[in-house]
Amino acid sequence: MRQALVCGAGGFIGAHLVRRLKAEGFWVRGVDLKRPEFAASAADDFVVGDLREAEVCAAVCDRAFDEVYQLAADMGGAGYIFTGENDAAIMQNSAMVNLQMLEAARRAGVARMFYSSSACIYPAYNQEDPDNPNCAEDSAYPAAPDSEYGWEKLFSERLYLAYRRNHGMATSVARFHNIFGPEGTWTGGREKAPAAICRKVAEARSGDTIEIWGDGRQTRSFLYVDECLEGTTRLLRSGETGPFNIGSEEMVSINGLVAMVAEIAGKRIEVRHVPGPLGVRGRNSDNRLIRERLRWAPSRTLREGLEKTYAWIEGRVRGAVGA
Ligand code: NAD
Repeated sequence: MRQALVCGAGGFIGAHLVRRLKAEGFWVRGVDLKRPEFAASAADDFVVGDLREAEVCAAVCDRAFDEVYQLAADMGGAGYIFTGENDAAIMQNSAMVNLQMLEAARRAGVARMFYSSSACIYPAYNQEDPDNPNCAEDSAYPAAPDSEYGWEKLFSERLYLAYRRNHGMATSVARFHNIFGPEGTWTGGREKAPAAICRKVAEARSGDTIEIWGDGRQTRSFLYVDECLEGTTRLLRSGETGPFNIGSEEMVSINGLVAMVAEIAGKRIEVRHVPGPLGVRGRNSDNRLIRERLRWAPSRTLREGLEKTYAWIEGRVRGAVGA
């Protein structure tokens, strides 16, 4: 039976990934500081542990797993990453996890290891025009990420690539672009734009006004979690190193995103623009390389994923109101 280790299995993407690997017939061990928040983990074995600790990494990576997915990171949306208040913690925590986990995997003779980097590594100077951001993989250097979160990701990407060069490990790196879906953080300060907007719209009555950070003309693309997992597993099993973008090319402004969610909800929503942490003006995935090398790229519409996500968040909001 094939065996997989998912680091960060208590988080949003990790919990979905465990479910997917189980459905594919893997024996799965999950590890995280915490268990998944919204549903029991599907893992055969779930270890609650701190992956900054070398002993924990060695204990969970006690065999030559067929596949290891390293998704654990200290992370959140703009309200967590861009305020500056969490920079030291983000860099220290995530770098430690990557250093310790990669070394443990090398010692255990792991067959293939995946690392989730982020679109946040792309230089801010290429993302000033909301209509024309450049996020081609080879535009990453000269480096100028807009956050310390991005700098840590860039360092760790290089670490995984160095382990491939120097130790012959089959490491693969993807740069995720704004992944969303049900069972993601939707409240509390670490939630990202799609979840935050779904929550605000779900809490509002028709005709109400909701607050949006910035002028709403900043652009992004958002990828539904199932498509992210398809790209992730395909990349790891292809033997390609990457880094490859895994994201959607359907770019939308934040105002456009609000309009789409309001339409799904069947509500008339007014928007008040307020100051807030923002990040770059424009960002979109560029899927030319992954299409060429893997003969695959995500294809489902933003609307499809948003409908599922809105339904899930609306259910949580109704539950919270009813409680
Ligand atoms: P998440 O925050 O839901 O999951 C990350 C998990 O890592 C959390 O459950 C957290 O408890 C765990 N973790 C953090 N420090 C740990 C430690 N010391 N030991 C053990 N576990 C620890 O985030 P996610 O959205 O599921 O993202 C997964 C990965 O993908 C992360 O590396 C993230 O940086 C990357 N990524 C995500 C997105 C996105 O839009 N969600 C975009 C780009 C990159």
